[in-house]
Amino acid sequence: MKKLIKLAIPITFVFTLVFSSSVTADPQSRPNGPYVENEQNISLSSYMSNEELYKKLQKLERNSNGKMKLDIAGYSNLSPDGYSTAEDKGEPLHVVKFGDSDPDKKRVLITTQIHGNEQISTEAALDIIKKLSSNGKEVNEILENVSIWIMPRINPEGADNKYEDSWYPTRYTHQTWDPEALGLPADTLAPWYYNEDGSERAQNNNGRIVYGIPGYDQNRDYNPNLDLNIEDQDKSEVADFLNSRSTNNSRYGGFYVTAESRTVTSVFQEFQPDVFVDVHHRGFNTLSDEDNRSVPVQLAAVVATQSYEDPFSGKKYEVDEDVLKLGKQVNALSYLTLQTGNSHFGAIQKYPDVNLPGTALGAFALNDAAIMLIEIKGQTQTLGQKQNGMLKETVKKPLYEVFKGLSDGTINDVDPQIYDDIPVSTNRISDPTTREDDAF
Ligand SMILES: [Zn+2]
Repeated sequence: MKKLIKLAIPITFVFTLVFSSSVTADPQSRPNGPYVENEQNISLSSYMSNEELYKKLQKLERNSNGKMKLDIAGYSNLSPDGYSTAEDKGEPLHVVKFGDSDPDKKRVLITTQIHGNEQISTEAALDIIKKLSSNGKEVNEILENVSIWIMPRINPEGADNKYEDSWYPTRYTHQTWDPEALGLPADTLAPWYYNEDGSERAQNNNGRIVYGIPGYDQNRDYNPNLDLNIEDQDKSEVADFLNSRSTNNSRYGGFYVTAESRTVTSVFQEFQPDVFVDVHHRGFNTLSDEDNRSVPVQLAAVVATQSYEDPFSGKKYEVDEDVLKLGKQVNALSYLTLQTGNSHFGAIQKYPDVNLPGTALGAFALNDAAIMLIEIKGQTQTLGQKQNGMLKETVKKPLYEVFKGLSDGTINDVDPQIYDDIPVSTNRISDPTTREDDAF
């Protein structure tokens, strides 16, 4: 069923959506779409390869007068402890550093593109890096008090995926489940977040594409036990755990089978950030039945609603009360920053409370980091570049205010109740493409 008419009009233009079953005169949301029909055209125009990203980062470092330090934290096939999933190292995972891991400073860690198909998050990160590299008085004051580390594109393989010679960014990493390499019996079942046939939802191919490269949802591969290494565990215990669907599921942490999650976690452990921000993309909503503003971002400070007990070590993890409060303050300040009149910038919703100990946010929240999930509207393949500028602002503006609030201490004056009062996700509107999976 083709749902959409082809659009070639400015985004502010009010237009009509034609459905097969009904015709409506009102746009679903304000602004609406524009959704793109031909994915390949849009994809090529907005494509940023890993090589291009690396060059941009190197140029930013050169122009920063020593303020920014660009490091390679690891590689997509090789984690810091030497666990290798292939003969080559794979793609570098960069960490951009403004300031040291200094316990006398506030510390913020930002990651983007843990799902390779969520590119605008990385473009926003590049803008933030550029701003922090500048020699402005305000920026310098912030960096006197706050260290900021940014890991743009922590799923470089999914981000740079090709399908039939065209760019086809994917949610998943690239890696084949190889239990024997981990010392497990050959018939051990893969973690539940393994994508064996390398397939994803898509606009073409009847809503499904099989690009054929297996991999993992990296954002389920983290674990509150940051030191978990299958290699060091009792192998039969791990195999039993994986072979049972009652334990091999999202209620438990992941298994750190990807080099990417191990690398990011090693940076987290070195830096011990006060605040961890992970930027994603999602679907479409309007604010409410009465207010049809299109929701540009959803935010969340809660991704681990329950305490966690590591099934292997018995060690317990819980979200500290003060850490939760700071997380709510960070999210509340971000929400407040985007309230400008009745513009769509202010149409913010709260991502529903979830308990996902295998996500980076969930695992790190259980290890004393205040968190903010930012979920940008739409996928790169859905919106193309047409709202990029606006969507990047909804990430950059709040984060900059958070940096300032942490620097001058005013973050502590923000009422966490403001976070609790952010309207929760509702009024999902139909995405004319086929992305149905709203899990971040
Ligand atoms: Zn995501």
